[in-house]
Amino acid sequence: MKKYIVVTGGVLSGIGKGIVSASTGRVLKEYGININSLKIDPYLNVDPGTMNPNQHGEVYVTDDGYEADLDLGHYERFLGKTMGRENNVTAGQIYRTIIDGERKGEFLGATVQIVPHVTDKIKERIRKIEADVVMVEIGGTVGDIEGEIFLEAVRQLTVEEGLDNFFFIHVTYVPYLRVTNEFKTKPTQQSVQLLRRIGIHPNMIIVRSEKEVDSEVMDKISLFGGVPHEMVINLPDSNNVYSVPEMLHNNGIHNLISKKLNLKLSGIFNWKYPTSFKNVKIALIGKYLGTDDAYKSILESLTLCGVKRPEVLDSEDLEEMTEEQVSNLLSKYDGLIIPGGFGKRGIEGKIKACSYARKNDIPILGICLGMQVMVIEYARNVLGMKDANSVEFDKNTSFPVIDIMEKQKKVLKMGGTMRLGSQRAIIMKGSRLMDIYDGKREIYERHRHRYEVNYEKFKEMFSFPDNIKEDTLVISAKEDFVEAVELPEKLFYVGIQYHPEFKSQVGNPHPLFKNLVETITGNK
Ligand code: GLN
Repeated sequence: MKKYIVVTGGVLSGIGKGIVSASTGRVLKEYGININSLKIDPYLNVDPGTMNPNQHGEVYVTDDGYEADLDLGHYERFLGKTMGRENNVTAGQIYRTIIDGERKGEFLGATVQIVPHVTDKIKERIRKIEADVVMVEIGGTVGDIEGEIFLEAVRQLTVEEGLDNFFFIHVTYVPYLRVTNEFKTKPTQQSVQLLRRIGIHPNMIIVRSEKEVDSEVMDKISLFGGVPHEMVINLPDSNNVYSVPEMLHNNGIHNLISKKLNLKLSGIFNWKYPTSFKNVKIALIGKYLGTDDAYKSILESLTLCGVKRPEVLDSEDLEEMTEEQVSNLLSKYDGLIIPGGFGKRGIEGKIKACSYARKNDIPILGICLGMQVMVIEYARNVLGMKDANSVEFDKNTSFPVIDIMEKQKKVLKMGGTMRLGSQRAIIMKGSRLMDIYDGKREIYERHRHRYEVNYEKFKEMFSFPDNIKEDTLVISAKEDFVEAVELPEKLFYVGIQYHPEFKSQVGNPHPLFKNLVETITGNK
């Protein structure tokens, strides 16, 4: 019988429910349990693809081309398991299927209602996830109007599938009041009450707090929350999210859950994660500075390489700077990353950063838009194509080195908006990229973009590793489109059209980040 661990949040959002779910799953996986997960997002967007990274964090891309909530990234990194579109459901998806179905007459004249039609659809999506244990994480906070219908659907599911097959974890926050030197449990008590009113009684309360909560406070939470003492787990802030599986394991979460769900554990807990961080100074030349989450997967990829968190600089700040000022600013760093992005804002700053790295041989990795910027910079500053640009930023450029390709236009006409998901690329023999991938020639990497290198029109500015011509950018991977460029004479000057950051896992960061870091440390 399939078991479900349902994770809800109390008091406030952003307290690490996603990390707790992924970590709980990981602990159980260590004990041989086959885990899968479903992230429920109660907002009305059909998917997060159109959401601004400044508010909502990065759009995570799965192999199957789904634009997902960044929590799916936690699941992939922690669980080492590939997620796809079935692992994320939004209210938008649910309502869209229902309304489309209603228009097609699928409801045979019935009145279409929240209960049972919406709740049925939600249950269908939850049931669809295959595994021995499914982690169901409900986004938002208990008490949110938009989340209520999902909690109701889960409650119905406990009736249909048997309450014994469910384990409810409520992740809550206990604030610490400095003035009176005490922890406050009232918000937690109230959020548990809200949950109970919906008909869900938590089996476990995970208490997030800025520091270790004392035992009387834990007693109080146990009493008012109506859960046994051992089922209240304190999870104070940690500066290393990858330690969370270990923290939960130290609290015996695997035994507590398996006792209730009747799971058979086997094997030993052998969770390895980076614990010390080298002081490598990398700057990310970004433009979404509203939240750290906007570049989540890149930052995590570097953490997983065992280096300190890079600094995110605002590319717009670079735009007005002279070459000397740019150089003064960037000379503090050992390496640069130009991340992906959309729209014209900040582009000229990114181009300046590329130019600085190329001239001073500073290791640099250009990701997606970052690679496109490398091509633009090279065209302008090495080849004298003064107004070279991407058509995305300048429709009238005389040198559209980045453009929408005919082949892409067909996809766009068919309703697709972007080239999305895992695509094959062939790595050129003898390229730096081939070394980075340990000699591999055929790779599958995740994409999310509209524009491409305009290779057919600007062939002259490129060459290939087996026949490198002077003053050209070397193409190191290609399939239908140019997938990667490099300057082999540099320490590390690599641009890729895809997003390697989505394929880093704990213990196995993507080779591009690993190689970038190794180049920097080897050179220091
Ligand atoms: N805006 C660029 C494009 O659509 C790059 C996209 C990205 O960086 N993800 O092609």
